[in-house]
Amino acid sequence: MSPLVVRTVADLRAVVAGWKAAGERVGVVPTMGALHEGHLSLVQAAKRGADRVIVTIFVNPKQFNNPADLEKYPRTEETDAALLAPFGVDLIFAPMPDEVYPQGFASTVSVAGISDALCGAHRPGHFDGVATVVTKLFLQTLADSAYFGEKDWQQLQVVRRLVADLNVPVTVVGCPTVREADGLALSSRNQRLTGEERALAPALPRAMRDAAARICAGQTASVALAAARTAILSAGFREVEYLELRGAQDLVMMDHADRPAHIFAAAWLGDVRLIDNMDVRPA
Ligand code: AMP
Repeated sequence: MSPLVVRTVADLRAVVAGWKAAGERVGVVPTMGALHEGHLSLVQAAKRGADRVIVTIFVNPKQFNNPADLEKYPRTEETDAALLAPFGVDLIFAPMPDEVYPQGFASTVSVAGISDALCGAHRPGHFDGVATVVTKLFLQTLADSAYFGEKDWQQLQVVRRLVADLNVPVTVVGCPTVREADGLALSSRNQRLTGEERALAPALPRAMRDAAARICAGQTASVALAAARTAILSAGFREVEYLELRGAQDLVMMDHADRPAHIFAAAWLGDVRLIDNMDVRPA
């Protein structure tokens, strides 16, 4: 059955109030649409963890530091609704920007520290935009649980931090990155790759996996990641924005994997920016 599509907070609240009155647990999957198997894996996790599932579809202008990127972001709401239909999603919340940020909107949620590195350093204001909209979505949906992808690992840590700091009564569930058979992490941005770019895109996860193995075998991150950077650029990527080993939770830079860590990367293929991360488990 097609999920109900709701555009206002008032209508959303009315539906959720009915569910809560019946004692049902509500799960939310926040997305920006252009849905793929990665998003659907979060929906499946939400179905397992909640009685009612809301998928939010909102291309959040506040988390785009680049107006051209916001403009080009794919918007495919009808296809998204059709994709969600077989999954038993109860409601799609797809508000217009004015509903989320009405005239006079002046508040920002900002998570210091973990927002500063990696994507935060290269996309000024990005995580303030994410933290603000996610906080609003939690308060609008009053969800008991919320499902986020490990694909956006830094975002997941930002959300976990704000939920703990602000005592938001929601359980945050992280879900594993879904990849294509060739290793490329699914992303709405992959749609914008040309055929040729798509064919060479797996060089990014391949180089990261190779670096992870070398670091586990005792090589320093600086040496292993320098080799990975060369491999990514020689495969045809235009620029490596960052490629770093950092602590899994605190995102502090590391050179030896002496505690749980992740390799984080952002790289440009033509005019498409791809991000990925991989865990490095010390023996
Ligand atoms: P987005 O629509 O890109 O903002 O992503 C919405 C949610 O889907 C976020 O929690 C992402 O981390 C998650 N997500 C995106 N791509 C993947 C993927 N390949 N595997 C798992 N989760 C993903």
